[in-house]
Amino acid sequence: METILSVNNISKHYKTITALNNVSLTIPKGSVFGILGPNGSGKTTLMSIILDILKADSGTYNWFGNSNQAHERKKIGSLLETPNFYHYLSAVNNLKITQAISGRGSIENLNEVLSTVNLLERKNSKFSTFSLGMKQRLAIAAALLGNPEVLLLDEPTNGLDPVGIAEIRNLIHSLSNKGITVIIASHLLDEVEKFCSHVAILKKGVLLTSGPVNEVLLNEEIVQVSATNLAQLKNCLVEMGGYTLLKEEGDLIQIHFPIGTANLEAINQYCFNKGITLQLLFNKRKSLESKFFELTND
Ligand code: ADP
Ligand code: MG
Repeated sequence: METILSVNNISKHYKTITALNNVSLTIPKGSVFGILGPNGSGKTTLMSIILDILKADSGTYNWFGNSNQAHERKKIGSLLETPNFYHYLSAVNNLKITQAISGRGSIENLNEVLSTVNLLERKNSKFSTFSLGMKQRLAIAAALLGNPEVLLLDEPTNGLDPVGIAEIRNLIHSLSNKGITVIIASHLLDEVEKFCSHVAILKKGVLLTSGPVNEVLLNEEIVQVSATNLAQLKNCLVEMGGYTLLKEEGDLIQIHFPIGTANLEAINQYCFNKGITLQLLFNKRKSLESKFFELTND
């Protein structure tokens, strides 16, 4: 897969704080790439560095496989902080101002970006009448001026209600379908799991892992089983083997298997042959959330 951005050994300190510690990652072209981590893990610092807003102490990055030439910046749209729109002006007039100041795109581009974020019908409504979700989508419209190949969004669903979050998710999906590479920083893991193809997980400035979502986060399956006699069931499962981890969780047993190897029918049959009737047999794919907490816990 073609690489759109490579980050090589980037470190950044703010006085005594290490915001980024030797971070390296590769972002494939066309991916929806989530930079995940709790607050203070260095996501915004990383985004600022790759946008040339902030200077790294050491390390390099490379967009589009070229050296960082000025004209490449035009291919990158970004939304790091909520822009200051004028409350008393309409959506389209706000965009006109952004367009004029940034020099990105053209007047002809305005309707196009408004349509992309599903605000064309509301283009003449005052910004002050917009919901939070609509305001955020207008901010994304502004970032889309000039038809960038890459879009960087820092915490795009922050403060939104579930409907607003779903709208942003749909928007990211449609941008990705148009071939735009989308890079999202977020601490909202559950949401990101639903729309990212790739993830990098940061903890206190250290990159814990990165790669395709299904490799990084869903490399295990968890099967939950229970029976009246839990001790007997446990012995039986230990005898059966084939798992990577087995533990008691309250009144059930959780068994971890490498992805694709959990066979519920075989487990049921094995226990049945040993005279055990299962009360519960359930395959629960490991959620991003639980994996994330496992990775970021001290
Ligand atoms: P995130 O976006 O993941 O919440 P940040 O990149 O904003 O993380 O911050 C990473 C670390 O750097 C945090 O400990 C934060 O307090 C610190 N930090 C960020 N910006 C500054 C700054 N301008 N001056 C000093 N420390 C900062
Ligand atoms: Mg941040």
